[in-house]
Amino acid sequence: MASLGRHIIVEYYDCSPEILNDVVNIEKSMINAAEEAGATIINSTFHHFSPYGVSGVVVIQESHLAIHTWPEYGYASVDLFTCGDTVNPWVSYQLLKEAFKAGHGSAVELSRGEMALLKRKNFDVKALRDEKSTDEGDPIRTRDVWFTERDDKIALSLKHDGKLYDVQSDYQRVSIFNTQAYGNMLTLDGMVMTTEKDEYVYHEMITHIPMLTHPNPKRALVIGGGDGGTARELLRHDSLEEVVMVEIDDKVIEASKMHLPTIASALEHPKLNLIVDDGIKYVNDAADESFDLVIVDSTDPVGPAEGLFTVDFYKEVYRILSKDGIMVTQSESPRFNSKVFKEIFQTYRGIYGQEQVHCYLAYIPTYPTGMWSFSYSSKGGAHPIANFDEARSKAFAKEHRLKYYNEDLHKAAFALPSFVRDMIS
Ligand code: SAM
Repeated sequence: MASLGRHIIVEYYDCSPEILNDVVNIEKSMINAAEEAGATIINSTFHHFSPYGVSGVVVIQESHLAIHTWPEYGYASVDLFTCGDTVNPWVSYQLLKEAFKAGHGSAVELSRGEMALLKRKNFDVKALRDEKSTDEGDPIRTRDVWFTERDDKIALSLKHDGKLYDVQSDYQRVSIFNTQAYGNMLTLDGMVMTTEKDEYVYHEMITHIPMLTHPNPKRALVIGGGDGGTARELLRHDSLEEVVMVEIDDKVIEASKMHLPTIASALEHPKLNLIVDDGIKYVNDAADESFDLVIVDSTDPVGPAEGLFTVDFYKEVYRILSKDGIMVTQSESPRFNSKVFKEIFQTYRGIYGQEQVHCYLAYIPTYPTGMWSFSYSSKGGAHPIANFDEARSKAFAKEHRLKYYNEDLHKAAFALPSFVRDMIS
């Protein structure tokens, strides 16, 4: 390596002024340009100036990418600085040129820190290394690498010790981070799906509420749920003869089996029929009244999951439910995705009837706002509280040492805060 770093000084001309003034879009493009070039993101900060113009920097393990824009001239100046030879900054140059719709760009590459001009100082590296530990013996980590899920107003960041898995599948980017506070974490397209430390909340609540309400469920269908947590909880119920799970992305299953063993522990279970396919197609092809319970454990209504949030799909789910069948779905955060949340309950009430659809909540620390909702819809009128078997619930929660669900919470989860109740009344 002749020099410590490569510094590409870039000028983009004739760009779209709208794009050069869109801070969220610019940040996404810069982060994508860094990742596609092979860099590991540590952190990023972007600022929108008033009345226009954006400045920002993406700190990468291999140094940084920085930008300043002049939308009024359709001009952006960018610095691509990388150390080592694992990152190719020219990949970022080309991606950003396309992202900013630049008419043309010019760039000059400088070698930074010519080795021939440098002489290594004699200092004790060990003294700098993060090999110290707290009184409790936990390692004091000085690496400051953060994963951040954000939209234009809210962000959630988790410190991590690197990516264990990172694949662009046919549908989405599938990644596993080794977080310091929540263990291994699955993200899809940069959104938190599940973490080892709080997954039980989501998986216990999406399964045991319907399973301990339905009088005698024999066959259950899971749409999505590729991490395996929902199937694991369902298969605790001996009454079930078969669980069919239809996950569209085999890379999610692979990543979960490799790096989320406690969540994916039931993916080889003899009663599990695991199918890699589009859940929409599977439901359309399924026979009438063929399932007692359908759980839609999907991602947000984007990409492959978009079709899972349509009236047609839910009418088909209704068709394949047995006469006393129940459907439960993750129904987003009332606070974070208010519009989708309201639409979901309107849609279900249009299909099942006003009194047959109920909302319940659970608190998941690594989901946006922490407050997450589930919908419960019954075809045959089984009411989640009036018809739930409290004694069976109590015994089940005790026998399986559940960490979140219990007979009191089963009822309490349906007691909604007024602002949520008002949103769907
Ligand atoms: N608990 C998570 C949440 O609430 O965001 C969801 C977890 S689970 C991993 C979501 C799964 O749905 C993903 O693995 C995704 O690939 C899958 N999925 C999305 N669209 C699908 C479709 N049309 N058919 C089947 N699976 C789908």
